[in-house]
Amino acid sequence: MPKEHHVAGYERMRKVDSVQRTVDSDGRYAGVAFDKELTFDKITDVFHAGVSHNEDQPSHLHVLDTEICATRCTEEYGNPCERFCPAAVYEMEERNGRRELKVNFSNCVHCKTCDVADPYQIINWVTPEGGGGPNYKGM
Ligand code: SF4
Repeated sequence: MPKEHHVAGYERMRKVDSVQRTVDSDGRYAGVAFDKELTFDKITDVFHAGVSHNEDQPSHLHVLDTEICATRCTEEYGNPCERFCPAAVYEMEERNGRRELKVNFSNCVHCKTCDVADPYQIINWVTPEGGGGPNYKGM
């Protein structure tokens, strides 16, 4: 098996300044429309997965240093968690005059992509309280 299959996702992540950018990444999908018949936005997919978590349980996604998200990650990687998470759990939102991380943990579909793709390895995915997550039986 070729060596590239043995490289962790976070080790493959490329910094934005190492990539030739021909299209503005924020503008690239700006015109995409979801018809909710054949194409779906992330939040609709989460709804269809029947995801549930008790809103008052502690987050099972521990981001160990959110300062890195607001500074180094914004500059070096363009906050890829907003893109690689299929459930729109990670959002960078304007706060205190800068973009800061917001974690919508109750959307999580337990895929663990963030655990392997986060370039700084500061996201700790811990087991959520029992019974939460996607409703596999109902799909
Ligand atoms: S486990 Fe998957 S769905 Fe949950 S936060 Fe991580 S990337 Fe998103």
